[in-house]
Amino acid sequence: MERLLGKIVTGRANGRDVINLKSSLAVLEPIKNLLAQKPFKNLAKIVKQIDVLENLKSEIEAAIVETPPTTLKEGGLIKPGFDKELDELRDIAEHGKDWLLNYQQKEREATGISSLKISYNKVFGYYLEVTNVHKGKAPDYYIRKQTLVNAERYITPELKEWEEKILGAEDKINTIEYKIFQDIREKVGGFTKEIQQNSVLVSEIDCLCSFAMAAYENNYIKPQVSDGRELQITEGRHPVVEKNLPPGSDFIDNDTRLDTDDQQVWIITGPNMSGKSTFLRQVGLIVLMAQIGSFVPAKKAKIGIVDRIFTRVGASDNLALGESTFLVEMNETANILNNATPKSLILLDEIGRGTSTFDGLSIAWSVVEYIHNNTEIRSKTLFATHYHELTELALLYPRIHNYNVAVEEWEDQVVFLRKIVAGGTDNSYGIYVAQLAGLPAELIERAKEILSNLEANELTPNSKKPKLAGRRAGHRVNKNQTNLFDKPQKNKIEEEMKGVDVNNITPLQALQKLNELKQMIK
Ligand code: ATP
Repeated sequence: MERLLGKIVTGRANGRDVINLKSSLAVLEPIKNLLAQKPFKNLAKIVKQIDVLENLKSEIEAAIVETPPTTLKEGGLIKPGFDKELDELRDIAEHGKDWLLNYQQKEREATGISSLKISYNKVFGYYLEVTNVHKGKAPDYYIRKQTLVNAERYITPELKEWEEKILGAEDKINTIEYKIFQDIREKVGGFTKEIQQNSVLVSEIDCLCSFAMAAYENNYIKPQVSDGRELQITEGRHPVVEKNLPPGSDFIDNDTRLDTDDQQVWIITGPNMSGKSTFLRQVGLIVLMAQIGSFVPAKKAKIGIVDRIFTRVGASDNLALGESTFLVEMNETANILNNATPKSLILLDEIGRGTSTFDGLSIAWSVVEYIHNNTEIRSKTLFATHYHELTELALLYPRIHNYNVAVEEWEDQVVFLRKIVAGGTDNSYGIYVAQLAGLPAELIERAKEILSNLEANELTPNSKKPKLAGRRAGHRVNKNQTNLFDKPQKNKIEEEMKGVDVNNITPLQALQKLNELKQMIK
């Protein structure tokens, strides 16, 4: 209705727009009647304000045809019976030819000239033609217009009057139709306020109705909304992901307990594909749904109203405006840190991935510290990350807690359990997910090799101390990293051994080989 009204008040609406608006007005009454029977206070308030604009609707109905053309100045818009002059003109346009035949007949009888005929040309219009033989019988009221060799041409005031009617009718019809249409369009524009109000009310009903349907169809519950700072969701679900799982897969629900006194920040680790992002988003959506008045996908929910939901999710860039992926990420983070309050909810799906590992980790670490320590922020925060070092934050700060998404390893396979459980994790199973995605087997093998190489050269050998906490306390980082592109020694030895043909080797050669292998190990 609002869109149509916009066209109507700016004079851009055609007949179809006005008819569409009328159709919208026509459903107001049934909506009103239907909802008036419901025992809901808030609905009654809305329903009371709906103005069905009966007169306006009836007038449009009476004036404009049901399927008008898109053009406005070529007629065909206005219904018969709406305007007397228009009806007469249409009658003339349609029946003018009949009138001419009747008139010709009438004049033949009146004058006794059986050959008298009415013709038309562009110069004189319609005229009566009488051959020279009969011209003496032409009555006085015939006005001579033209003399031909063998005939006279006359007009009469009556014939001219009809000529004008017939020829002008089409033009006039179009003009009158357009005028009537304009009047009606203007009249509709006069009800702008009422129509706008109706559209707002109907959209409110539409929204509530959609909430009700979604809640009913998807098994949502009514959340308890308070002014407090807690966020407690029992068996929460992601409203979209739960609808889109392949047949046979069940959505695994999860609990959330956040507040600003104890459970302020959850560091969520877990393998790739385990469900971290889904969990973060489901919490954001549940809070949002509760605050817009919807039921939520959970078994129970207690939600303190938030002032904003801040998210930093995924990677994007804004190259046209000179912002790289990492800069966009940092801009988003800066916006969160500059605006979040203890009433906000912050969802961070990884920070610092777009730069070197140490830079990124340092930024992520200090962002969490800042959110925890800064009393002006102190927002409830979920932070999903693959920087497993961040789990050590929980050892240092009282309101930071570790959670991870559980998986089970079974016969060289990873089984995603999708359950958020207390505690950190130190494995991302990224290579396994890469394998699932179809990266070449040879590449996967090499990646595993490099990984074990890297893991064997842990940067901080003293695993008892929190790595980063230790570094903060003055520990130096071991710079001896393996060269990623060296084949591991073990494999070289294996290859050498495989190359030995024991059936064709002398004892001396065997001794030399043994010595070579020993040197390699050294
Ligand atoms: P990454 O670290 O690679 O970004 P992730 O841990 O964030 O992965 P998600 O993207 O949240 O993982 O989840 C991957 C897929 O797992 C989802 O697209 C969804 O199909 C499925 N999934 C996630 N959570 C659940 C759940 N609770 N129940 C059932 N399936 C789920």
